[in-house]
Amino acid sequence: VSWSAEDEAIIATNTDATECKRCAVELGYWKDDYIPYFIRHVDRKAPEINRGYYARVRAMEMFIHQFIERCGTKCQIINLGCGFDTLFWRLKDSTQAVGNFIELDFPAVTSKKCHIIKRNKQLLEKISNEDGEVMIREGDLHSDGYHLVGCDLRCLGEVRRKLEAAGAGEGAGAPPTLVLAECVLVYLRPEAADALLRHLAAAFPRSALLVYEQCNLGDKFGEVMVRNLSARGVALAGAAGPPAAQAARLRALGFDAARCWDMHAVWRALPDDDRARVEALEMLDERELLLQLNSHYALAVATRSDIFADMDLNA
Ligand code: SAM
Repeated sequence: VSWSAEDEAIIATNTDATECKRCAVELGYWKDDYIPYFIRHVDRKAPEINRGYYARVRAMEMFIHQFIERCGTKCQIINLGCGFDTLFWRLKDSTQAVGNFIELDFPAVTSKKCHIIKRNKQLLEKISNEDGEVMIREGDLHSDGYHLVGCDLRCLGEVRRKLEAAGAGEGAGAPPTLVLAECVLVYLRPEAADALLRHLAAAFPRSALLVYEQCNLGDKFGEVMVRNLSARGVALAGAAGPPAAQAARLRALGFDAARCWDMHAVWRALPDDDRARVEALEMLDERELLLQLNSHYALAVATRSDIFADMDLNA
């Protein structure tokens, strides 16, 4: 299988995200016993970056918990562009391990993730069946309740086939479904991302979608962000408009309700204790830079069905 240079650059964004997460975990921003298996060594990142990642991971987690609180653990989670995310293992160690957890990314990423899982008992033992087996089929990993499948999210047919192979229930009888898109959709052309989201909204009548990604890229700071990425070969093909436009887009694609906040609003809504603890970890050299970063990332929550309608920053 060959990848275009642009795909290579997009795939490399996973290494970035994993490095930044590991760095922040080492500095005590949050706990993640599993991230060290996925990346060996990392250089220290700037405090603004660490704090930005904290808000990102904490905000995603907060809404994941809200989702599970509302529907229980007999649900499915679909992690789009999962990269080396460790959420599955972190949930397994909590009381919130879910019925079926499905991860999708380019095969170049999922095959590496699969290799790392197979090599590390601590990862493997959390996914194996009762008889300790995991199945590798066409390069994809399937086990009871955990599936890691390679596909191109721009090819809806492939995504649908892979979701089916991973046992994702669809339609009226589908279990409650949480779809995660953490820094992923923005790399897809808007038409491809729209087709994917329209399908997911239609397929899962009881669902919530969390989208974390860049926003407000039209201003000066946004232009610099775009230029820096493009210097590394990554084109942000997606919309990345203001938060209100992102929410409107999700409603237009078939979700009943959608809200979107920039990360500045998300940060202010975090519990005081959390913020105070994190603020004490490192001195911020450039407060202005953090403000800029926070206003150029957003978290959107889109829902279908009334049970998830009240998911909110302050719920
Ligand atoms: N969600 C993970 C996280 O937040 O840690 C990884 C984020 S990383 C910035 C973006 C991920 O999206 C990469 O792993 C990349 O390979 C994946 N991705 C981007 N476009 C994709 C596509 N068309 N098909 C499959 N995966 C894609």
